[in-house]
Amino acid sequence: MAEADLVEDYHPVTAAQRRLPERLVLWDETLRDGEQTPGVRFSAEEKLQIAELLSEVGVSVINAGIPVVSPDEARAVRRVAEAGLRAKILAAARTVPRDVEAVIDSGVSHIAIFVAASRVHLRFKLKMTPDEVLAASIASVRRAKDAGLHVAFVTEDTVRAPFDFVERLYTAVQEAGADRLVVADTVGVMTPLTFRWYLEEFVRRVRPRELSVHCHNDFGMATANTLTAVELGVVAPHVCVNGLGERAGNASLEELVLALETLYGYRTGIRTERLYELSRLVEECSGIPLPPNKALVGYNAFSHEAGIHAHGILAHTLTYEPLQPESVGRRRAMILGKHSGRAAVLEKLKERGLEAPEDRLVDLLGRLKTAAESRPKDDVARFLAEYRARFEDPGVTDEEFWKLVDAAGIRAVRA
Ligand code: MN
Repeated sequence: MAEADLVEDYHPVTAAQRRLPERLVLWDETLRDGEQTPGVRFSAEEKLQIAELLSEVGVSVINAGIPVVSPDEARAVRRVAEAGLRAKILAAARTVPRDVEAVIDSGVSHIAIFVAASRVHLRFKLKMTPDEVLAASIASVRRAKDAGLHVAFVTEDTVRAPFDFVERLYTAVQEAGADRLVVADTVGVMTPLTFRWYLEEFVRRVRPRELSVHCHNDFGMATANTLTAVELGVVAPHVCVNGLGERAGNASLEELVLALETLYGYRTGIRTERLYELSRLVEECSGIPLPPNKALVGYNAFSHEAGIHAHGILAHTLTYEPLQPESVGRRRAMILGKHSGRAAVLEKLKERGLEAPEDRLVDLLGRLKTAAESRPKDDVARFLAEYRARFEDPGVTDEEFWKLVDAAGIRAVRA
C-alpha cells in the first residue's frame, strides 16, 4: 500500500478545510511576547539572529519589540528592521504618542497599536473610560497611517471585554485606517468551541478587513484555539517559537504549522524541516529548556522505548508516529530500557552485524531490564534540584536586589 493511501485514512477533514484562509500570514511574537517570558532577555545580536532564521524559515511578520521600552530595545528593533529580511518587521506601541513616534523612528514597516479593552483592565490598570480609550486609539491609528505604516490594532483582553465596546472600538479604528484587527485571549480563557462562537460573532459585528488572533496558554489551549481561528479563515495567527510568552506562553509556532500541514495538508509556506534548528536557537537564547514531552520539538517527540511501540515503529513508522521526524528536521530515537522488547534489541544488534538465538535473546532482555531498573536515580535528584533552583527565581536575586536598593540610597523611613 502506498504511503499516501495510509495517510488518507486519517485525513477526513473536509468542512473545516473549506474555510482555511487562501494564504497564511504567520505573525511571530517570539521577540516581543516571547521575550516577556519571566527571566528571558535577548541581546540585540540574539534578536537579529532569531529574526534572520524566522525569516528564512518563512514567517511573514516578525514583532521585533517595543522601541519605547529602552534605547537598547529601540536599537535592537532598528537593527532587525534594517537587516533587509524577507519578513515584514513590526514593532509595538501603546496608544500613547511617544510610543507611536518611537515605532515610526525605528524604521519598521508595520506597527501593532495596543490598548486594553476589558472592564477590569480599564478600571484598575489604565484608569481610563471607554471613550478615552476610543479617542486615544483613533488618534494613534491615524498618526501611524499618516506615517505610512501598515497598522494592526490589538486590544488586550478582548474576549473578556463587553462586546458592544469591542464592536464600537474596532469599527472606529478600522474606519480610521487600521489594516488588520487582532483579537487577544490575553489570559487564555477561551476553548476551541467558545472561541469559534466569539470569532464568528466578531466577524458578523465588526466586518474586519483582515483578522488576527493572539492566544495564551493558561489552560493549555493556545495552539488549539489558534488552530480554531485559522479553521475559520483567520489569516494572521500569532505564534511564538517553543510556545514562549508570558506565564504559560503563547500558541507555539511549530505546533500550529505542523497541525495545518500534516492534519489538513495545508501549505503554510514554512520550511518545516528547519523548525528544529529554530527551536534550538530560541532555547539557547532564551535559556528556557524545552520540556521533553513538548510536541514536535521536545526530546521525546520521536523517541520510542516500550516494546509494543518499538515493534510497531520498526514495522512501519505510521503505527506510532503521525508524521516523519525529518519533516521538522529531526531524527527518530529508539531508547533501550526497562520497557524494551525483542524487536528493538534485535534491531540494535544489527548495528554490529549480530544475530541472537532465542535463548540468548531472552537472557539479554533480562539483563537489559535489570540494568535499566538498577540505574541509580541520584543524578535525577541533582538535575531537578538545579533546574528548580534556577526557575523558581529566574530574575535578580533578593540579595542582589537589596544591594541595589542600598546603592540607590533608599533608607528606612523613621517612625
Ligand atoms: Mn500576549
